[in-house]
Amino acid sequence: MTGGIVALALVLLMMGMVERSVRSIWLADLDEHLVDLGESVAAGLGVGDDDAWITEVSNRTGVRVTLIAPDGLVVADSHEEEAELENHGDRPEVVAALRGEVGQATRLSESSGFAQRYVALPFPGLVVRVSTPTSVIEDRLSDTRRVIAMAGVTVAALAIGLLVLTSRRLVRPLERLAAQAEAVAAGDLTVVPERSSVTELDQMAVALGSIVRDLGGRIDEAEQASSTLEAVLASLPQATLLFSGDDTLVYANPAAGEMLGRVPELLASLVPLQLQEMIRSARSGSVAPQEMEHGLPARWLRAVASRVDDSGRVVLIVSDVTERARLEAMRRDFVANASHELKTPVATAIASAEALQIALSRDDPSAERFAARVSASARHLERLVADLLDLSRLEQESPVLAPVDLGALVVEETEGARQRVEDNGLTLSVETIPVTISGDDAALRTAIRNLIDNAVRHTAAGGSIYVRVGSSDGFAVVDVADTGEGIPTADLDRVFERFYRVDTARSRETGGTGLGLAIVRHVVEGHGGRVSVTSELGQGSTFTVELPLRP
Ligand code: ADP
Repeated sequence: MTGGIVALALVLLMMGMVERSVRSIWLADLDEHLVDLGESVAAGLGVGDDDAWITEVSNRTGVRVTLIAPDGLVVADSHEEEAELENHGDRPEVVAALRGEVGQATRLSESSGFAQRYVALPFPGLVVRVSTPTSVIEDRLSDTRRVIAMAGVTVAALAIGLLVLTSRRLVRPLERLAAQAEAVAAGDLTVVPERSSVTELDQMAVALGSIVRDLGGRIDEAEQASSTLEAVLASLPQATLLFSGDDTLVYANPAAGEMLGRVPELLASLVPLQLQEMIRSARSGSVAPQEMEHGLPARWLRAVASRVDDSGRVVLIVSDVTERARLEAMRRDFVANASHELKTPVATAIASAEALQIALSRDDPSAERFAARVSASARHLERLVADLLDLSRLEQESPVLAPVDLGALVVEETEGARQRVEDNGLTLSVETIPVTISGDDAALRTAIRNLIDNAVRHTAAGGSIYVRVGSSDGFAVVDVADTGEGIPTADLDRVFERFYRVDTARSRETGGTGLGLAIVRHVVEGHGGRVSVTSELGQGSTFTVELPLRP
């Protein structure tokens, strides 16, 4: 549109300029013609009647001829009565001619009322002025103007057409390129910029294309890096939280929600409260890792807070150390219990040995009793140490698995114990089938021996022991049942704990260490099996071991 207006204005300007120059050329032509006429008039003067001569020239050529004396008086005029004409000495063309030059002027004639072109020629003692209406030029110009206007319109139409064509060729692809650039800015990286035959536009399209590819590559890299980081953080068992300098949560991994119960949006709602304190302190310096109890059932958490940068961002890493704390507590208890268990027979042995010494020096017959006590304490210590060694070996070594016929193994162990069983006034019956499991032969023997030993020690004479090996649901099942004293229901869950005994004194009396069932459970669970007990006080107990059959 603007282009069209500009083209039109240029064409109009051009028309004006052409008209001006045509007019000035014709005026020069007219002047030349008038000069020639003036000279012809001058040549014919003084030959006859000057008035008749100038009238004749005027009639023939249509121009007005005026003869003017040097004082400005009109001597003769082809169109007017000279007497009626005023002094012409002030007319610009006459003034120039009086100076000896050819004078020219265009103005409205006072006598005719039309625009006139005047040319005045100087001759000795006379000025010959020839004039004609400028309408001659205007008439010719009006025709020419029509031609110029037609040419102008044609040129303007051509210019506008050309402009439209050029703008189509430039503007359309430019608009498409702009739309594509906007799409890229809005995040669409599938854009393929259109190539163009216009070099500059093509360069822009190529540049946009490389921006899209580069941007796509960078976004891919950033997404990959962020997904790797996300995957790493998501798989971390530790709760990982990032807080900004203004106490808002920036990031929390999935473990954070599981460990803390819920993920807070603001630091103020982070629990346990101790963590809030840690984060605030971490901003002003380093904080030592802290352990705290949290939730129900209570878990032990160990937290570390560290400042990320000067903006006050702090990363908090919380680990669940409940299992470690439990194991530590268990170890502490075990050491205390073991020391206590060892102390009693050692003290008895020392005291009995001292009493023995005294009795021997006095030749006291009680010496034999004290010697028996020393020996009993030593044997108890031996059993205790043997059980402790068994337990520690089982804990440290992983079972050496090999195909084991559990039926045969149980038969061997029961037969090995038969003499002792019968010495205790008990009957022993065994019922087995061959069942093969993957197991550690030595460890399994220890477990079976412990169960038979318990049955013997906790069953009064006259009772019986029944051992059965079978299989059920992919498991080999060993039952060791007795008709002994039984276990109170309240203690059933705890008899597998280390050093747990229903009646400590009685257990010691019968040679128990309190570790037998703990060893059984350890062996069975180490083989992927389970051990359980059913018992009725005064009626007897049945211990059941289940071990996965070898596929
Ligand atoms: P202990 O050496 O004292 O027998 P165990 O760990 O083998 O230690 O057994 C723990 C406790 O479980 C025993 O002190 C006893 O009170 C009870 N117990 C184990 N086996 C039997 C059983 N067959 N009959 C009755 N009570 C048993």
